[in-house]
Amino acid sequence: MKKKPKYKRILLKLSGEAMRGKREFGIDPQFISYLASEIISAHKMGVQIAIVTGGGNIFRGVAGSKRGMDEATAHYMGMLATIFNAMALQDALEKKGAVVRLQTAIEMKQIAEPFIRKRAIRHMEKGRIVVLGGGTGLPFITTDTGAAMRALELGCDAVFKATKVDGVYSDDPVKNSKAKKYDTLSFKEAFKNDRIKVMDKAAVELCMRNSLKIVVFNTYKKGALEKALLGEKVGTVIE
Ligand code: UDP
Repeated sequence: MKKKPKYKRILLKLSGEAMRGKREFGIDPQFISYLASEIISAHKMGVQIAIVTGGGNIFRGVAGSKRGMDEATAHYMGMLATIFNAMALQDALEKKGAVVRLQTAIEMKQIAEPFIRKRAIRHMEKGRIVVLGGGTGLPFITTDTGAAMRALELGCDAVFKATKVDGVYSDDPVKNSKAKKYDTLSFKEAFKNDRIKVMDKAAVELCMRNSLKIVVFNTYKKGALEKALLGEKVGTVIE
């Protein structure tokens, strides 16, 4: 008998890093195509999915302001970068036959619907994958925080955070071979331990206050998203 997923509706956070695959910068259509297959397989399990895209592979507000730009302007540019990624993901998902609705927090009616909470929920109920671009539409925050907000307002059971490592470690596993991986972690630890950088503190705090689970998994491992949805021991669950 087929196992049932543990989650009914999730918010998947794909950072810009996931969109660039192995490139230094920008979008890697091949890797995005692989991501689309992983998302579609998860969706076929009967899980409703909304996706928030990051933009760090193209532009981050903080980087712009460090180079002398007006900070708010730079953040709006960062939000536009997230819409680039959202469009690329929509394209890849549609090419593989998924029905997708793109909604943006900054209105762009030629290319997307505006973000409308109840409409996004309805799309998911009807079996459409919802891609959310533009973060929250407000400067000075990140798409991690945006993802936590959207997960809460869309009634998601958890935020699934895609990363390039297997989960949350006690230290950077790339730099420290002794770093230990956690299977589960408390919100308190994730919030107060400064070495844990899986999501920014504002996002972790929002999840903690609302008891919204964070599931961290490796985007590069084929099938990891499905396994995490089944509740198997991949990645790290912060709860
Ligand atoms: N951003 C913003 N408001 C939001 C979401 C994003 O101002 O609600 C800007 C911010 O400057 C951020 C950039 O968009 O640096 C790209 O998003 P982020 O850095 O979160 O992308 P990721 O790290 O996930 O690739």
